[in-house]
Amino acid sequence: MLYIVSTPIGNLKDITIRALEVLKEVDLIAAEDTRQTRKLTQHYAINTPLTSYFEHNKFKKGDFLLSLLKQGQKIALVTDAGTPGISDPGYHIINLAIQNNIPITAIPGPTALITALSLSGMPTHKFVFEGFLPPKQVARCKRLKELSNEQRTIIIYESPHRIKQCLQDISQTLNDPTVVCARELTKKFEEIRREKASLLVDHFNNTAPRGEFVLVLNLTRQ
Ligand code: SAM
Repeated sequence: MLYIVSTPIGNLKDITIRALEVLKEVDLIAAEDTRQTRKLTQHYAINTPLTSYFEHNKFKKGDFLLSLLKQGQKIALVTDAGTPGISDPGYHIINLAIQNNIPITAIPGPTALITALSLSGMPTHKFVFEGFLPPKQVARCKRLKELSNEQRTIIIYESPHRIKQCLQDISQTLNDPTVVCARELTKKFEEIRREKASLLVDHFNNTAPRGEFVLVLNLTRQ
């Protein structure tokens, strides 16, 4: 059985009782970054062995994990934060397991996109998750233009070193919409700003962006 286990996006207390039970019971935890996951397992006195499974070893390691699953081992898949497979390397092993008829189940929990959406104040009945926009500016602006008629609430992940440029592009391409900028969700320095994209750019010109970001916008609400 492959268990897809959601883990906290910042606050170690945001983990379900079932997730803790599964992490204790499985034979192996496949983790994106074992050092990161060790903080969680140590905090909860979980002694299950950890092995790394990340973007650059996903094919080789995926085959190895599959062979263990075929032998009947129980493996939990976790990533650095949130729900495995959501903008992180979980997708490959999940599909490998499905193609090989390995039983698979998910232990639901936090994910940054839903956390940001739920507190955004933007319409939540229909939304589209864009994940990370393309890192290169031309491709990013092209994607943003394609979104210009989107009626649903849009959710975007962005890294601190690209957030300013991304907001600048949103401002210029999408007629400076209001953007909810959710930073460091569930962490000590959690901050939610609801402003025009251009004002967010001004803010980050004065205060260097730090931490992790989710952007939420709805183009029917300027
Ligand atoms: N699997 C994760 C999930 O379920 O949300 C997402 C992994 S993706 C590699 C990392 C991105 O998620 C970050 O760059 C950021 O956009 C977003 N993110 C993760 N944790 C966050 C947090 N505590 N606050 C704000 N954004 C976060």
